[in-house]
Amino acid sequence: MTDRVILREVGLRDGLQLIKSRLNTAIKLSWIRAQAEVGFTEIEVTSFVPISVLPQFADATAVLVDAQKIGNLLPSVLVPNLRGAVMAMDAGARKITFVLSVSDAHNRANVRKSTDDSLAMLRDVLAERDNRQNIKIATALATSFGCSIEGAVPEARVIQIAEILASQGVDEINLADTVGYGDPVQVGRIFKDVRKAVGELPLAAHFHDTRGLGLANVMAALDAGVRRFDSALGGLGGCPFAPGASGNIATEDTVHLFDRLGIDSGVDLGALLKVRHQLAEWLPGEKLEGRLLGAGPADR
Ligand code: ZN
Repeated sequence: MTDRVILREVGLRDGLQLIKSRLNTAIKLSWIRAQAEVGFTEIEVTSFVPISVLPQFADATAVLVDAQKIGNLLPSVLVPNLRGAVMAMDAGARKITFVLSVSDAHNRANVRKSTDDSLAMLRDVLAERDNRQNIKIATALATSFGCSIEGAVPEARVIQIAEILASQGVDEINLADTVGYGDPVQVGRIFKDVRKAVGELPLAAHFHDTRGLGLANVMAALDAGVRRFDSALGGLGGCPFAPGASGNIATEDTVHLFDRLGIDSGVDLGALLKVRHQLAEWLPGEKLEGRLLGAGPADR
């Protein structure tokens, strides 16, 4: 096991999708700066989605433009379509995650088109990338481990889509357990099979802790060779278009796990816990998750 991982904070995107409070732009930027200061080199800072769908992200351009000015930070953004991708590129985005779902039903609920139509649109996004310089297009495959609308998602379909993405020339594939259906054996198997199918292409993992298997799934993905992970501070998160969805694995718990394993995430856990306290003040009345805050790190 190599001893370095990239942990990407997604609380500002996945986390803010489900909460009722609207965070203002200045607080979002304070949060981004605080996490960059404690060691995060990549943060998903916003989502370029229609304002009518998710008004929380009406300030996407402003957040991205200011986040780009933070040293040693790669701010990434989520987009569901070509229009969002072009807006993000125009705002100077260097890394854009195009999201599509393996489950056709979830894709229709999320972006109102079939998975195949999203794959076709991704070709246009990649063509746009090729017209510009220094932009990376990652792809998030939502519902890779199951779907709360369709149920089981065929593993062969996950691998087939990953092969298509690799042949189209994406820069990263992120397998997402959007609704927390994954288990460690399945996670290990799918990541190993996708690795065989896509060669050296960077793979990332995105787990929700809906049923308490989030960190077990991280262990399985680590064992399968994954070195990029998403997490949300305070275990925020969830998909508004997936029934029963809930929070991501908590960033602080995930950093603690890596610390215990001797794996370098680059993050200072003690300093991160201070940001976690601050987050509770920024989001009064919102329920935060995460196990570490109550007990603190093991004292040994
Ligand atoms: Zn998510």
